[in-house]
Amino acid sequence: MSTETVNKDILRGGQFLVKETKCEDVFTPEDFSEEQQMMKESVKEFIDREVWPNKERFEKKDYALTEEVMRKAGELGFLGISVPEAYDGMGMGFVSTMLVCDYISGATGSIATAFGAHTGIGTMPITLYGTEAQKKKYVPALAMGEKFGAYCLTEPGAGSDANSGKTKAVLSDDGTHYLISGQKMWISNAGFAEVFIVFARIEDDKNITGFIVEFDRENPNGITLGEEEHKLGIHSSSTRQVFFSETKVPVENMLSERGNGFKIAMNALNVGRIKLAAACLDAQRRVITEATKYANERVQFKTPIAKFGAIKAKLAEMATACYVGESASYRAAKNIEDRIAIRESEGNTHQEAELKGVEEYAIECSILKVKVSEDTQKCTDEGIQIFGGMGFSADTPMESAWRDARISRIYEGTNEINRMLAVGMLVKKGMKGHVDLLGPAMKVADELVGIPSFDIPDYSELFSEEKELLGKLKKVFLMVAGSAVQKFGPQLEEHQQLLMAASDILIEIYTVESSILRTEKNAKRFGEDTQELQIAMTRLNLFNAVEKISTKAKEGIVSFAEGDEQRMMLMGLKRFTKYANMPNVVALRNQIAEKMTAENEYCF
Ligand SMILES: Cc1cc2nc3c(=O)[nH]c(=O)nc-3n(C[C@H](O)[C@H](O)[C@H](O)COP(=O)(O)OP(=O)(O)OC[C@H]3O[C@@H](n4cnc5c(N)ncnc54)[C@H](O)[C@@H]3O)c2cc1C
Repeated sequence: MSTETVNKDILRGGQFLVKETKCEDVFTPEDFSEEQQMMKESVKEFIDREVWPNKERFEKKDYALTEEVMRKAGELGFLGISVPEAYDGMGMGFVSTMLVCDYISGATGSIATAFGAHTGIGTMPITLYGTEAQKKKYVPALAMGEKFGAYCLTEPGAGSDANSGKTKAVLSDDGTHYLISGQKMWISNAGFAEVFIVFARIEDDKNITGFIVEFDRENPNGITLGEEEHKLGIHSSSTRQVFFSETKVPVENMLSERGNGFKIAMNALNVGRIKLAAACLDAQRRVITEATKYANERVQFKTPIAKFGAIKAKLAEMATACYVGESASYRAAKNIEDRIAIRESEGNTHQEAELKGVEEYAIECSILKVKVSEDTQKCTDEGIQIFGGMGFSADTPMESAWRDARISRIYEGTNEINRMLAVGMLVKKGMKGHVDLLGPAMKVADELVGIPSFDIPDYSELFSEEKELLGKLKKVFLMVAGSAVQKFGPQLEEHQQLLMAASDILIEIYTVESSILRTEKNAKRFGEDTQELQIAMTRLNLFNAVEKISTKAKEGIVSFAEGDEQRMMLMGLKRFTKYANMPNVVALRNQIAEKMTAENEYCF
């Protein structure tokens, strides 16, 4: 099932920076089909029944419970949402895949991780790169939860530098199998998985190679597991080291071609990244709802703390970040779904189309991974603060939510690596001419030396000022990144702090635009009066983004520009981040928080 109509005019990955998107062209959570709504409800009902009441058991390292819930999820079809029907999956589109990932992941990070590791990096490499025989042999059991998958890339000496692994695969003399030897660490689901995607190096190849390795505990074939790791959070997610000692793997279990493993690993991670963003969303909604309820109930100074401005500010900011994260995640998800459909209509197989579809939006996937994982961390942190001392207690859901949130900034590529990837991939697309960065960057350079317009535009239409400001924020990125590329060329990658700052600007631009477009679309079709709170959140988010972009751009500019050039860019920055009518953010926050406390939940 795909999401209704395919939009053939969608932008390519990264083009959001230089091209305008009409609000009618974005997908929003309010566009879920009836079938998707039903799917969402059934996943929520499953989690409320099987997971939420057992939160304590998940905190006490009940690995068997994780396995049991995963098996039940398999019986209900949730593990095979994106798997084609030919391999006993449900064959649903990318938006539905994201939706299930979102609502299955909110109650505990242990299930979120087990689900993500199994369906994403554990199963997808086979559906994306497997031969027909490999798919027939392994995917149905994985889709139905009869077997579980794990992904063995990381090694003690190879984390972010994933292609540097030392695990070896040696071809047998008779050429029928490989013998794999090496040590993998931090392997999610290792304690109960039976299908491992393992990356190893053949001879002195530049790049690693992927293999499907079966693990039969009765006949371990040289595979041994380390003890469960003692972790800060996700206590019931199984995480172990996996040791391979001359593990015999038939040659037909090689994934794709020799030396293609790094590509497989990276593409599996691209999909994993956007799904990880989705997997952080319901965790935020639940935390916000719990925090709102507590703020209404807790009385200090004879007043429910929800009535204090300091608490209102927190609730409003938490809800705003969640709303923005939802807007951007589902926007990108539908772009991916449409790109897959377009490629299929052009004659690609589903497998090729899916691969290319996700690859196309790798920039957006990295942006989302960073943005939503960091917002979830902030959200859980403020959740603890709203609960005060009780937030620090394991008896409330805030403490575990905070610990569970922490891992999302580390796995699926750390947020530092993803920040650098986002800008690096965009610059590469610019160099290859896939995204025209040069033309718009030169226009911005001309504008910097030109005379600014003193016309007073008509801002009567909803978001006209906000959209104009968004356009100017895009110019900030082009100004900073364009000058940096000109100055440093290929050496830009050595200027990491500059890349981090540029990436932060890029992340704000994509997410600001996504929230404006979602809200505008809904205001147009449901009426502006129905979207008052969403308009407030969109404005609050833009205000925050402008502040952040100003700081980050300044940091970037002064790091490489001097004298007149620096002065000119700083003046440009001032001009590009200037509001004509500054919003009253305190009033916006109060408006948002008062609605939440009236509804006693995250109600957007
Ligand atoms: C709970 C858990 C589950 C996991 N599950 C899996 C799994 O199922 N399968 C799997 O293969 N792996 C898994 N991992 C591993 C995870 O993907 C890695 O931990 C992650 O990629 C980071 O690698 P590292 O821990 O070696 O950190 P390092 O790479 O050593 O990084 C340490 C720090 O240095 C920074 N850094 C590294 N390189 C650079 C650079 N070039 N420039 C700037 N900064 C840099 C990082 O951002 C980080 O802040 C898991 C990890 C954990 C903790």
